[in-house]
Amino acid sequence: MGRIPAASWPIRRQPRLLDKRRCRWPQCRAIDTLPDTVPSSPPRKRQFEYGDITMERREFLGNTLVSTALLGAGAPRSDSKTPRANVDVTATGEVFIERAANGKPHAGKVLATIAPHSDDHSILAGGTIAKLIEEGYTGYLIRTSNDEKDSYDLSLGKTVEANEADNEAMAKTLGIKQVFNFDYRNHHLDDVSRVEMRARIIFLFRLLKVDTIFSYDPWGHYEENPDHYVTAQCVEAACWMAGGHLDFAEHFAAGLKPHVVREKYYYARGPQAVNRVVDISSTIDKKMAAIRANKTMIGNMVQEFRDGLAQRKLKLPELEGDQDAAIRAYADLRFREGSARRGQEYGLKYAERFHYIGPDSSLEEHIEKHAVPLR
Ligand SMILES: [Zn+2]
Repeated sequence: MGRIPAASWPIRRQPRLLDKRRCRWPQCRAIDTLPDTVPSSPPRKRQFEYGDITMERREFLGNTLVSTALLGAGAPRSDSKTPRANVDVTATGEVFIERAANGKPHAGKVLATIAPHSDDHSILAGGTIAKLIEEGYTGYLIRTSNDEKDSYDLSLGKTVEANEADNEAMAKTLGIKQVFNFDYRNHHLDDVSRVEMRARIIFLFRLLKVDTIFSYDPWGHYEENPDHYVTAQCVEAACWMAGGHLDFAEHFAAGLKPHVVREKYYYARGPQAVNRVVDISSTIDKKMAAIRANKTMIGNMVQEFRDGLAQRKLKLPELEGDQDAAIRAYADLRFREGSARRGQEYGLKYAERFHYIGPDSSLEEHIEKHAVPLR
């Protein structure tokens, strides 16, 4: 397809073109207004910047955040460097670059991707999830909403059915072993008991023995959609609470054991403390196939995008073909190009970015020096 320069992409100049009440990628102001150019001397140490926003660096980000990132599972097979981009908002400005690994270094490990909407998984982390599964992880997908609000011209009931089928196809494309649908009402997650949702997630973390999770950043700034931050905050709490021996003790009578999640990959649509960038050049085609498998949702984006252009008496010829061709063209324009822009900032062909939290290794040095064998 013909490529449209980002600067002339109509949606960038009209970020509020579409209905803001729904979860739609074209509506994400923060992403759409990200600068494409990378400053030669980015702000470091004292401040972080994001678009028009400049904030004092928060002390809580601290050096531990960076050290845990460097000690994560990807460390032995990856190299780190300090990219120059104004979206790197860790305490030091350093970002760990996670590259593709040879063989199956993650064999025996389990990941879970937890998000409310089917396209959250594919669009925001699909390349990294596919990469880790190719490298040996067993993957599970938990979709917390029923996606009843995301189609163009289907009834609510038919929308639920269509998105459930699309979600299965999307998960299969990424290599996911099994899907769990919580099916809470779409856009109503702030009216759901967080204790209940957290308990369901804890049960699955223990049952599946999840080592690594993907989810929205529970503290992402300016997130409009309550489904995103409610799910993410339940996930974050569940990660450590699943390790408690007094939490939901009936699980143990059923044969489960306490189990702590050790690694977290958080993504966000708005400003985020990015400290890990994953090279997804080897899995970009799988990511794009997964996004296209969300055909009801992406088809909806295409139709709304066309409607917005039509109101301005415009059209994009590549979106005027049949539905499959239009979905492919739109997905390439929006998401392949988006991954390429992320990659370009870090000298990679395609990339996804995260706030990564690894295992607590603060006592490892002491253990190495002083621990003795257990007799
Ligand atoms: Zn969403």
